[in-house]
Amino acid sequence: MAAAYGNFINGKWITKGSRGTFENRSPADPSDVIGIFPESGHEEIEAAVRAAAEALPAWSRTPAPRRGEILRRVGDLLSKHKDEIAKLATREMGKVLAETRGDVQEGIDCAYYYAGEGRRMFGQTVPTELPNKFGMSIRRPIGVAGLITPWNFPLAIPTWKSFPALICGNTLVLKPAEDSPATAVKLMEIFEEAGVPKGVVNLVHGDGPNTGAALVKHEKIGVISFTGSSETGREIARLTGGSLKRCSLELGGKNAQIVMEDADLDLAIEGALWGAFGTTGQRCTATSRLIVHKKVASELTGRLVEQAKKLKLGNGLEESTQVGPLVNKTQRERVAGYCMVGQEEDGAKLLLGGKAPGGKLSKGYFFEPTVFAGVTPKMRIFQEEIFGPVIGIVEVKSFEEAIAALNDSRYGLSSSIYTKDVNRAFKAIEQIEAGITYINGPTIGAEVHLPFGGVKDTGNGHREAGITGLDIFSEWKAVYVDYSGKLQKAQIDTHPDD
Ligand code: ADP
Repeated sequence: MAAAYGNFINGKWITKGSRGTFENRSPADPSDVIGIFPESGHEEIEAAVRAAAEALPAWSRTPAPRRGEILRRVGDLLSKHKDEIAKLATREMGKVLAETRGDVQEGIDCAYYYAGEGRRMFGQTVPTELPNKFGMSIRRPIGVAGLITPWNFPLAIPTWKSFPALICGNTLVLKPAEDSPATAVKLMEIFEEAGVPKGVVNLVHGDGPNTGAALVKHEKIGVISFTGSSETGREIARLTGGSLKRCSLELGGKNAQIVMEDADLDLAIEGALWGAFGTTGQRCTATSRLIVHKKVASELTGRLVEQAKKLKLGNGLEESTQVGPLVNKTQRERVAGYCMVGQEEDGAKLLLGGKAPGGKLSKGYFFEPTVFAGVTPKMRIFQEEIFGPVIGIVEVKSFEEAIAALNDSRYGLSSSIYTKDVNRAFKAIEQIEAGITYINGPTIGAEVHLPFGGVKDTGNGHREAGITGLDIFSEWKAVYVDYSGKLQKAQIDTHPDD
């Protein structure tokens, strides 16, 4: 019998769902049922938001350094359970153990970082225009935060949202992805053990269109933070726009790595392999376009294909595996569909992969590392997010052409350039339209204390992580203290004769 997991509402675990239950199966072996989860709806969202609203006054009045102490304990507990959580995450969403360990480590880093923010959370103190008057700005909590997360970073993304929300004094309701609900349960258990008061954090499982949408629409939710597809992001932006709720969106990417003719090719190939095939290409920062100077294109292409061919596919729980499965059947169909599209595009050449492997891997949702050459900006495989282990090689004749190709995208999340020329590197930093640029590193590998997010259709202007993560979950308040003992009029008393 598979384990029955629950929603976590007002400090209680409840396995019953008003819309029934759903199963979570391993993508490496769909006969492996990880657990049964409540399929929730309006009823559970209502109860969870009510609990979060009731817990808000006490939590928001708890001094931020105290809230930070709890987050520090959360970090300690994540460390203690790192291996166990990583194994569960690999089992439920497929990526290899080294990467789910990294995923948990990101959560640990995030806990300690925001625990420290509890003692900073800097505002400004500034002079005012008038004598005997004091001016400052402080951060205030927004209220109840609604967090909607995807499955590709099942632990890290919920922590990126919940830790800054909590340190700023908000309470929250988390709706995790249907493909990674068990990892979210672990996070809630850790919140509980760390001493987060009841009602402050709540977890509601369910699908997007019912459970997720009910959270977005709830009138007591003050801010929505969402990571997922651009289509869903647009729908959420429409709903939150109508109700004037704050909404932070982290959406798709079509990230490119440029390799100039002076690059260290060994390093550039290693970076491309990691960027394209790590997490089976299912990162919003994955490298899906490789823009290469024509002088090194043929050598790089040959060597990349040779090395990609050797990557070992398999169950991510086996230490020797380098590439795990895709997350589910739909995702595999989508990736296979794009490989068909690629082969039909005039000029594109499939050099490797493009299909699901046979043999003992055929029972899981595996897909072979795939390399296309001859890709150009007009092609759909150049422009559309595939979210799979597929990389398209684009040949260019100059630095200018490389930057133009990289920028020829509706998305702008991550980017990278390999070059030994420092002038070119700085020009790239200036000219690339993206929220993140790596010099001589792959497009993946964000750290928790720098802003994370992108330009264009990748989001709506917010940045998660670091200090900018606090901006999503707090309201600025300007404070004026007049200790003159009389009415002083700004702009008027300062210029009495104008
Ligand atoms: P992905 O391709 O990563 O699955 P989605 O945007 O479909 O991207 O899903 C990301 C998260 O958004 C999941 O938790 C999903 O349940 C949720 N979601 C999907 N549709 C909606 C919606 N209409 N309203 C709110 N949440 C949704």
